[in-house]
Amino acid sequence: MRSPYILRLQLTRLMVSFVLYFFLIASFTLTDVCAGSIYLQGQKEGGEGITIVLDPGHGGYDSGAVGPGGLKEKDITLSLARAVKKRLSDHYNVLLTRTDDYWIDVEERAATANRHNANLFISIHTGGSFRHKASGLATFYWSGEKAKRVSHILGAAEEWDTETGSAEWERIQERYLSKSRTLAVRVHKELIGCLNINDRGCKAAPIYVIASADMPAILVEVGYVTNPAEEKQLGNQLFLGIIAEGLSKGITAFVQEEIKKIRD
Ligand SMILES: [Zn+2]
Repeated sequence: MRSPYILRLQLTRLMVSFVLYFFLIASFTLTDVCAGSIYLQGQKEGGEGITIVLDPGHGGYDSGAVGPGGLKEKDITLSLARAVKKRLSDHYNVLLTRTDDYWIDVEERAATANRHNANLFISIHTGGSFRHKASGLATFYWSGEKAKRVSHILGAAEEWDTETGSAEWERIQERYLSKSRTLAVRVHKELIGCLNINDRGCKAAPIYVIASADMPAILVEVGYVTNPAEEKQLGNQLFLGIIAEGLSKGITAFVQEEIKKIRD
Protein backbone atom coordinates (compact mmCIF):
# COMPACT_ATOMS: atom_id res chain seq x y z
CA MET A 1 0.00 0.00 0.00
CA ARG A 2 1.28 3.47 -0.93
CA SER A 3 2.06 5.87 1.82
CA PRO A 4 -0.19 8.89 2.32
CA TYR A 5 2.87 11.04 1.50
CA ILE A 6 3.22 9.50 -2.00
CA LEU A 7 -0.51 9.75 -2.59
CA ARG A 8 -0.43 13.43 -1.62
CA LEU A 9 2.55 14.00 -3.93
CA GLN A 10 0.79 12.33 -6.85
CA LEU A 11 -2.36 14.32 -6.19
CA THR A 12 -0.36 17.56 -6.12
CA ARG A 13 1.38 16.66 -9.38
CA LEU A 14 -1.99 15.92 -10.97
CA MET A 15 -3.39 19.25 -9.83
CA VAL A 16 -0.32 21.16 -11.05
CA SER A 17 -0.61 19.45 -14.45
CA PHE A 18 -4.28 20.29 -14.63
CA VAL A 19 -3.69 23.94 -13.76
CA LEU A 20 -0.83 24.23 -16.31
CA TYR A 21 -2.98 22.58 -18.99
CA PHE A 22 -5.83 24.97 -18.22
CA PHE A 23 -3.56 28.03 -18.54
CA LEU A 24 -2.06 26.69 -21.75
CA ILE A 25 -5.50 26.28 -23.37
CA ALA A 26 -6.65 29.65 -22.00
CA SER A 27 -3.57 31.41 -23.33
CA PHE A 28 -4.07 29.99 -26.84
CA THR A 29 -7.70 31.07 -26.82
CA LEU A 30 -6.84 34.50 -25.46
CA THR A 31 -4.01 34.98 -27.96
CA ASP A 32 -6.36 34.20 -30.83
CA VAL A 33 -9.02 36.52 -29.55
CA CYS A 34 -6.53 39.30 -28.80
CA ALA A 35 -5.10 39.05 -32.27
CA GLY A 36 -8.64 39.33 -33.55
CA SER A 37 -7.94 36.39 -35.82
CA ILE A 38 -10.84 34.11 -35.02
CA TYR A 39 -13.72 36.45 -35.60
CA LEU A 40 -13.96 35.58 -39.30
CA GLN A 41 -13.17 31.87 -39.06
CA GLY A 42 -15.60 29.55 -40.74
CA GLN A 43 -16.71 32.13 -43.28
CA LYS A 44 -17.08 31.14 -46.89
CA GLU A 45 -14.98 32.62 -49.66
CA GLY A 46 -17.75 34.80 -51.07
CA GLY A 47 -18.44 36.36 -47.70
CA GLU A 48 -21.69 34.48 -46.95
CA GLY A 49 -22.28 34.23 -43.24
CA ILE A 50 -20.58 37.53 -42.50
CA THR A 51 -22.67 40.08 -40.64
CA ILE A 52 -22.00 43.79 -41.01
CA VAL A 53 -23.75 46.30 -38.79
CA LEU A 54 -24.08 49.84 -40.12
CA ASP A 55 -24.89 52.56 -37.62
CA PRO A 56 -26.55 55.70 -39.05
CA GLY A 57 -25.56 58.39 -36.54
CA HIS A 58 -28.19 60.31 -34.54
CA GLY A 59 -31.95 60.08 -35.27
CA GLY A 60 -35.27 61.20 -33.82
CA TYR A 61 -34.97 64.28 -31.62
CA ASP A 62 -31.21 64.25 -32.17
CA SER A 63 -30.65 65.76 -35.63
CA GLY A 64 -26.87 65.71 -35.32
CA ALA A 65 -25.23 68.62 -37.12
CA VAL A 66 -27.53 70.83 -39.17
CA GLY A 67 -26.39 72.67 -42.29
CA PRO A 68 -27.02 76.37 -43.02
CA GLY A 69 -29.63 75.25 -45.56
CA GLY A 70 -31.38 73.00 -43.00
CA LEU A 71 -30.01 69.61 -44.10
CA LYS A 72 -29.76 67.30 -41.08
CA GLU A 73 -26.94 64.90 -40.36
CA LYS A 74 -29.40 62.22 -39.14
CA ASP A 75 -31.06 62.11 -42.58
CA ILE A 76 -27.77 61.93 -44.50
CA THR A 77 -26.44 59.10 -42.32
CA LEU A 78 -29.63 57.07 -42.77
CA SER A 79 -29.59 57.55 -46.57
CA LEU A 80 -25.94 56.52 -46.66
CA ALA A 81 -26.48 53.43 -44.49
CA ARG A 82 -29.40 52.32 -46.67
CA ALA A 83 -27.32 52.84 -49.83
CA VAL A 84 -24.37 50.85 -48.42
CA LYS A 85 -26.72 48.06 -47.32
CA LYS A 86 -28.14 47.86 -50.84
CA ARG A 87 -24.65 47.43 -52.26
CA LEU A 88 -23.42 44.86 -49.76
CA SER A 89 -26.52 42.75 -49.20
CA ASP A 90 -25.83 40.38 -52.10
CA HIS A 91 -22.78 39.02 -50.31
CA TYR A 92 -23.19 39.82 -46.64
CA ASN A 93 -25.84 39.93 -43.97
CA VAL A 94 -26.20 43.69 -43.42
CA LEU A 95 -28.10 45.18 -40.48
CA LEU A 96 -28.78 48.79 -39.53
CA THR A 97 -28.87 49.91 -35.90
CA ARG A 98 -31.84 52.11 -36.83
CA THR A 99 -33.93 51.72 -39.95
CA ASP A 100 -35.86 54.98 -39.76
CA ASP A 101 -35.91 58.37 -38.09
CA TYR A 102 -35.90 57.52 -34.40
CA TRP A 103 -33.44 57.87 -31.57
CA ILE A 104 -31.51 54.98 -30.13
CA ASP A 105 -29.16 55.26 -27.21
CA VAL A 106 -25.44 55.39 -27.94
CA GLU A 107 -24.77 52.25 -25.88
CA GLU A 108 -27.47 50.36 -27.77
CA ARG A 109 -25.72 50.87 -31.12
CA ALA A 110 -22.67 48.68 -30.47
CA ALA A 111 -24.82 46.40 -28.28
CA THR A 112 -26.97 45.64 -31.35
CA ALA A 113 -23.85 44.56 -33.24
CA ASN A 114 -22.69 42.46 -30.27
CA ARG A 115 -26.07 40.73 -29.96
CA HIS A 116 -26.00 39.74 -33.62
CA ASN A 117 -22.39 38.50 -33.38
CA ALA A 118 -21.54 40.93 -36.14
CA ASN A 119 -18.15 40.74 -37.81
CA LEU A 120 -17.87 44.48 -38.45
CA PHE A 121 -19.39 47.65 -37.01
CA ILE A 122 -19.39 50.89 -39.03
CA SER A 123 -20.79 54.08 -37.53
CA ILE A 124 -21.64 56.71 -40.15
CA HIS A 125 -21.59 60.45 -39.45
CA THR A 126 -20.94 63.75 -41.16
CA GLY A 127 -18.79 66.47 -39.70
CA GLY A 128 -20.27 69.48 -37.94
CA SER A 129 -18.55 72.65 -36.84
CA PHE A 130 -19.28 76.18 -35.77
CA ARG A 131 -16.68 77.19 -38.37
CA HIS A 132 -18.37 77.13 -41.76
CA LYS A 133 -15.00 76.58 -43.44
CA ALA A 134 -14.42 73.23 -41.73
CA SER A 135 -14.58 70.51 -44.36
CA GLY A 136 -13.46 67.05 -45.33
CA LEU A 137 -13.41 63.39 -44.52
CA ALA A 138 -12.01 61.63 -41.46
CA THR A 139 -12.08 57.97 -40.46
CA PHE A 140 -11.66 56.99 -36.83
CA TYR A 141 -10.76 53.85 -34.95
CA TRP A 142 -10.59 53.28 -31.21
CA SER A 143 -7.58 54.86 -29.57
CA GLY A 144 -7.47 52.70 -26.48
CA GLU A 145 -7.84 55.74 -24.24
CA LYS A 146 -10.65 56.20 -21.77
CA ALA A 147 -13.93 56.37 -23.67
CA LYS A 148 -15.47 59.72 -24.27
CA ARG A 149 -18.78 60.46 -25.75
CA VAL A 150 -17.87 62.52 -28.76
CA SER A 151 -20.51 64.54 -30.49
CA HIS A 152 -20.61 65.21 -34.18
CA ILE A 153 -18.61 68.31 -33.37
CA LEU A 154 -15.37 66.60 -32.45
CA GLY A 155 -13.30 68.35 -29.88
CA ALA A 156 -16.11 70.71 -28.96
CA ALA A 157 -17.83 71.17 -25.65
CA GLU A 158 -20.03 68.11 -26.06
CA GLU A 159 -17.34 65.63 -25.07
CA TRP A 160 -17.67 64.10 -21.65
CA ASP A 161 -16.20 61.21 -19.81
CA THR A 162 -18.33 58.16 -19.51
CA GLU A 163 -18.74 57.36 -15.87
CA THR A 164 -21.82 55.30 -16.54
CA GLY A 165 -20.25 52.98 -19.11
CA SER A 166 -18.89 49.63 -18.06
CA ALA A 167 -15.10 49.52 -17.96
CA GLU A 168 -15.24 45.86 -18.93
CA TRP A 169 -17.12 46.58 -22.11
CA GLU A 170 -14.89 49.51 -22.94
CA ARG A 171 -11.92 47.19 -22.97
CA ILE A 172 -13.60 44.89 -25.51
CA GLN A 173 -12.59 47.03 -28.47
CA GLU A 174 -8.93 46.89 -27.39
CA ARG A 175 -8.82 43.32 -28.70
CA TYR A 176 -9.48 44.57 -32.19
CA LEU A 177 -7.25 47.64 -32.29
CA SER A 178 -5.08 46.37 -35.10
CA LYS A 179 -8.02 45.05 -37.19
CA SER A 180 -10.02 48.23 -36.64
CA ARG A 181 -7.04 50.32 -37.74
CA THR A 182 -6.68 48.24 -40.92
CA LEU A 183 -10.41 48.50 -41.61
CA ALA A 184 -10.23 52.29 -41.14
CA VAL A 185 -7.27 52.54 -43.52
CA ARG A 186 -9.04 50.47 -46.23
CA VAL A 187 -12.29 52.43 -46.01
CA HIS A 188 -10.51 55.79 -45.83
CA LYS A 189 -8.38 54.99 -48.85
CA GLU A 190 -11.41 54.02 -50.96
CA LEU A 191 -13.36 57.12 -49.93
CA ILE A 192 -10.45 59.49 -50.61
CA GLY A 193 -9.94 57.75 -53.97
CA CYS A 194 -13.47 58.37 -55.17
CA LEU A 195 -14.27 61.76 -53.60
CA ASN A 196 -12.71 65.12 -54.29
CA ILE A 197 -12.59 66.02 -50.63
CA ASN A 198 -10.25 67.51 -48.01
CA ASP A 199 -8.38 64.62 -46.34
CA ARG A 200 -8.63 65.02 -42.54
CA GLY A 201 -6.90 61.70 -42.11
CA CYS A 202 -7.41 58.28 -40.65
CA LYS A 203 -6.85 58.50 -36.91
CA ALA A 204 -7.33 57.06 -33.46
CA ALA A 205 -9.81 58.71 -31.11
CA PRO A 206 -11.54 57.73 -27.85
CA ILE A 207 -14.94 57.52 -29.51
CA TYR A 208 -17.63 56.21 -27.21
CA VAL A 209 -19.93 54.59 -29.78
CA ILE A 210 -17.26 52.12 -30.92
CA ALA A 211 -15.66 51.47 -27.52
CA SER A 212 -17.85 48.51 -26.59
CA ALA A 213 -18.05 46.87 -30.02
CA ASP A 214 -16.87 43.26 -29.79
CA MET A 215 -15.57 43.24 -33.37
CA PRO A 216 -13.48 45.52 -35.64
CA ALA A 217 -15.24 48.90 -35.54
CA ILE A 218 -14.78 52.33 -37.09
CA LEU A 219 -16.53 55.67 -37.36
CA VAL A 220 -16.51 57.66 -40.60
CA GLU A 221 -17.24 61.38 -40.81
CA VAL A 222 -17.98 62.13 -44.43
CA GLY A 223 -18.05 65.83 -45.30
CA TYR A 224 -19.23 68.70 -43.13
CA VAL A 225 -22.93 69.37 -43.35
CA THR A 226 -22.23 72.75 -41.71
CA ASN A 227 -20.03 73.75 -44.66
CA PRO A 228 -22.35 75.37 -47.27
CA ALA A 229 -20.59 73.76 -50.26
CA GLU A 230 -20.42 70.29 -48.66
CA GLU A 231 -24.03 70.56 -47.47
CA LYS A 232 -25.01 71.02 -51.11
CA GLN A 233 -23.06 67.90 -52.08
CA LEU A 234 -24.44 65.84 -49.19
CA GLY A 235 -27.96 66.75 -50.27
CA ASN A 236 -27.32 65.20 -53.69
CA GLN A 237 -28.31 61.54 -54.06
CA LEU A 238 -25.68 60.97 -56.76
CA PHE A 239 -22.95 62.21 -54.41
CA LEU A 240 -24.28 59.99 -51.62
CA GLY A 241 -24.14 57.09 -54.09
CA ILE A 242 -20.43 57.74 -54.66
CA ILE A 243 -19.78 57.79 -50.91
CA ALA A 244 -21.78 54.56 -50.47
CA GLU A 245 -19.76 52.96 -53.25
CA GLY A 246 -16.47 53.97 -51.57
CA LEU A 247 -17.63 52.67 -48.19
CA SER A 248 -18.78 49.39 -49.73
CA LYS A 249 -15.50 48.90 -51.59
CA GLY A 250 -13.43 49.59 -48.48
CA ILE A 251 -15.48 47.17 -46.38
CA THR A 252 -15.32 44.50 -49.09
CA ALA A 253 -11.55 44.93 -49.50
CA PHE A 254 -11.05 44.42 -45.76
CA VAL A 255 -13.33 41.37 -45.51
CA GLN A 256 -11.78 39.66 -48.52
CA GLU A 257 -8.26 40.24 -47.16
CA GLU A 258 -9.25 38.77 -43.82
CA ILE A 259 -10.89 35.71 -45.39
CA LYS A 260 -7.81 35.19 -47.55
CA LYS A 261 -5.53 35.34 -44.48
CA ILE A 262 -7.58 32.63 -42.79
CA ARG A 263 -7.55 30.41 -45.86
CA ASP A 264 -3.80 30.81 -46.64
ZN1 LIG B 1 -22.59 62.83 -35.82
